[in-house]
Amino acid sequence: MANVGFIGLGVMGAPMALNILKGGHSLSVFDLNPDAVARLVEAGATACSSPREVGAASDFVVTMLPEPRHVREAILGKDGVAEGLRKGGIVIEMSTIDPKTSQSVGDELRKRGMNLVDSPVGKTSEHAVTGTLTLMIGGEPEAIARAEPVLDCMGNEKYYCGGPGMGHAMKITNNVLATTIMVANTEALAMGLKCGLTLELMQSVMKNTMAWNSQFSTAMPKKGFLGDDSPGFAIRLAAKDVRLACELEESLGIPSRIGRGGLAALDAAIVAGYGDRDTARLMFMLEEKLGV
Ligand code: NAD
Repeated sequence: MANVGFIGLGVMGAPMALNILKGGHSLSVFDLNPDAVARLVEAGATACSSPREVGAASDFVVTMLPEPRHVREAILGKDGVAEGLRKGGIVIEMSTIDPKTSQSVGDELRKRGMNLVDSPVGKTSEHAVTGTLTLMIGGEPEAIARAEPVLDCMGNEKYYCGGPGMGHAMKITNNVLATTIMVANTEALAMGLKCGLTLELMQSVMKNTMAWNSQFSTAMPKKGFLGDDSPGFAIRLAAKDVRLACELEESLGIPSRIGRGGLAALDAAIVAGYGDRDTARLMFMLEEKLGV
C-alpha cells in the first residue's frame, strides 16, 4: 500500500480521494477550502498545510484542480508539491487542462528526478463516487505502471493515449465535442418548444434520426429535464474546457467555429450569474426566455 497525497477536494476530487482511502492507501490532503479537508480527515485522511507538505508525505500526489494555473501553482509554485516530493515520486494529474501545460509541468518535474502521469477523467461525479471513472492516461510507460494501483481506486476503464500530455489531449478533444453537442441540443430543443412541439415528441422522433445523441438518454433526463442544476459539472468548468480547446484548435490552424459558438453560450450563462451551477442550467435559461 502506498502513501498517497491528494490536492483539490471538490465535487470530483472528494469522492476520488475517499476511494483511495477505501483502497487501503494512506492519504494526505490539501485544499484551500477547510470544510473540504475536514470531511476527508473525518474519513481517515491526514490534513496538510500546503502542497509541499502533501508532497513530503507521499510517494504519489494526485491533483484534481479547476484550471491549468491552479495545477502549475500547486505543483511548481512556492510551497508546491515539487518542493516536498522525494526523487522518484510521481504526480498523477487528473484535472482537465491543456496538453501544453501538462507537458511543461511534467518536463520540469522530470528535470528534478520526479515524474508526471496525466490521467484526466471522463463521466460524472456519480462515477467518481462509485470509482467507475473513465481514465485517459498519458506518460512514460514505467511511471504509468507504478501509478496503476492508485489509478485503479478511481476508475474502471483505462485508455492509454500515449506519451506525456496525451491523456489531456484526449480529454480536451472529448470535452469540446461533448459540450458543444450539449449547447446544440438545448438550442434546437428551445426552437422546437417555441414552435409548439413537446419534449416527448421531439425525443420520440429524433430517437430514429441522425439528430439522436447519448445526452438525450443520459445527462438530460437526470438533470435538465427534471429542473435540477445542482453541481454536477459547473458551467465555469465547461467554459474553461471549451476555451482551452478553442485555443488549441487555433494554435493548430483549425478554425474553431463550433467551439467559439458553444463558448459564447457558456460565457452568457456565466455573465447571467450561473457559473457555479450545473450545465443543465443552459436548458432552463432557454426555457425562462421562452416562458415555457
Ligand atoms: P470543483 O470546483 O468542485 O473543485 C475544485 C477544488 O479545488 C475545490 O475544492 C477548490 O477549493 C480546490 N482548489 C482550487 N484551487 C486550489 C489550489 N490552488 N490549491 C488547493 N485547492 C484548490 O471542481 P470539480 O468539479 O471537482 O472539477 C475538478 C477538475 O476536474 C476540473 O478541471 C474539471 O474540469 C474536471 N472534471 C470535472 C467533472 C465534473 O463532472 N465536475 C468531470 C470530469 C472532469
